[in-house]
Amino acid sequence: MSLQATAPAVSPTLDFDPDLVRSFDRHGPRYTSYPTADRFDAGFDELAYRAAAEQRNAGGALRPLSLYVHLPFCRSLCFYCGCNKIVTRDASKAARYLDYLDREIALQSALFRDDPRVAQMHWGGGTPTYYDTAQLRALFGRIADRFDLARGGDYSIEIDPRTLTTGSIEALRDIGFNRVSFGVQDFNPAVQAAVNRLQSQEHTLSALAAARACGFESINIDLIYGLPLQTPGGFAETLATVVEARPSRIALYNYAHLPALFKAQRRINDRDLPSAETRLELLGIAIDRLGAAGYQYIGMDHFALPGDPLALAQRQGRLQRNFQGYSSGPECDLVGLGVSAIGALGPHYAQNFRSLPEYYGSLDRGRLPVMRGRRLSADDLLRRSVIHSLMCQFTLSKSALEIAYLVDFDHYFASELQDLRELESLGLVTVGKDWIAVTPRGRYVIRGICMVFDRYLRQQAPDVRQYSRVV
Ligand code: SF4
Repeated sequence: MSLQATAPAVSPTLDFDPDLVRSFDRHGPRYTSYPTADRFDAGFDELAYRAAAEQRNAGGALRPLSLYVHLPFCRSLCFYCGCNKIVTRDASKAARYLDYLDREIALQSALFRDDPRVAQMHWGGGTPTYYDTAQLRALFGRIADRFDLARGGDYSIEIDPRTLTTGSIEALRDIGFNRVSFGVQDFNPAVQAAVNRLQSQEHTLSALAAARACGFESINIDLIYGLPLQTPGGFAETLATVVEARPSRIALYNYAHLPALFKAQRRINDRDLPSAETRLELLGIAIDRLGAAGYQYIGMDHFALPGDPLALAQRQGRLQRNFQGYSSGPECDLVGLGVSAIGALGPHYAQNFRSLPEYYGSLDRGRLPVMRGRRLSADDLLRRSVIHSLMCQFTLSKSALEIAYLVDFDHYFASELQDLRELESLGLVTVGKDWIAVTPRGRYVIRGICMVFDRYLRQQAPDVRQYSRVV
């Protein structure tokens, strides 16, 4: 065991090999947590969550908080959607939700009175911008009253450009957000019609320009490949438009067609979906164009310009991964607010009820709406560190883990290392005495590499179809 061993050099390059990716086309978790949320259990209830918060306070844990606020309402249904959302045009339903959210914020903030510092906050949905500026401002104010929002923290919001009116971007900046993420998916009108999300290119680009003009520090655009009627030529045009607009981050998701799980997706005509070969071509074009335009591959589905905080964090070895994806902020305890939101306090995960009646019912009884969660075992914590390190840094120091977890790495993970040999022979990883490093060729299939260390997938034949495809 040697801490002096030098870390293998990690360059931010990606070596995309379509044949390899084709052979890796299987279902797998996205590892925004380990164990994954499908391993949470209902035995972890409100009392367990309160105990976890108390343990954090008693331990004098000085990790700041990260808040996730889930705002689930949308005005229309995008057929590809797999989010927890409520589609309605009835604004009073959405207003009622804010009242309940306020009750939850009051209950949650009371748990963190001793140390309510917040370094990050993210509002996602649904469509946070379903609400008008006054409602968003009031909600931000209520959170700021009860938590201690750090100056210079990361405050981000997901935006559906279709909901924006003149001046609303400036208002979001004025409220206190400094990062924005725009949902785009594809600018092609035929694709937009096939997924029921008509969104003018002109309107989206002018919203992005407005965000840049009013000083948002980071601007993200979400794209999806694998949508119905997508063609290589059409998607290349979308990519050309996007890279010309120069957002600092681009998330390139693959469309996970799981109609058995997501009802909205049954409205997509299977015959319109691109073939596996075309999907791969779409992905190859995207990786090629983003690389040529100077975007750095961060990991999983994320790309960023070299000056973006995410790219800096990756180069400096301090990238984090949580339920919202990659993050450049410090390691935080996560408080999830709103229906279905997930939190993580030290070695505990907790998720709120996923339906409004259950969420409201708990709050009506003055209870925190915790539906399920998990207290991590020593083995979970070790494997979480392994997967986190591989996902964020593409390397893993065996000695650092041996010291932190008092295990002999090669002995503890003997069968995993045996499986890694196969991946090593494919040129995806190198396994050394002190280090495991993912090669540029293995980076795009990082989920598949992490799956080797997932004890739950190893122990039982999983119903892998509940997960999206690795590529
Ligand atoms: S993709 Fe976004 S806007 Fe569309 S239905 Fe889902 S949550 Fe709502």
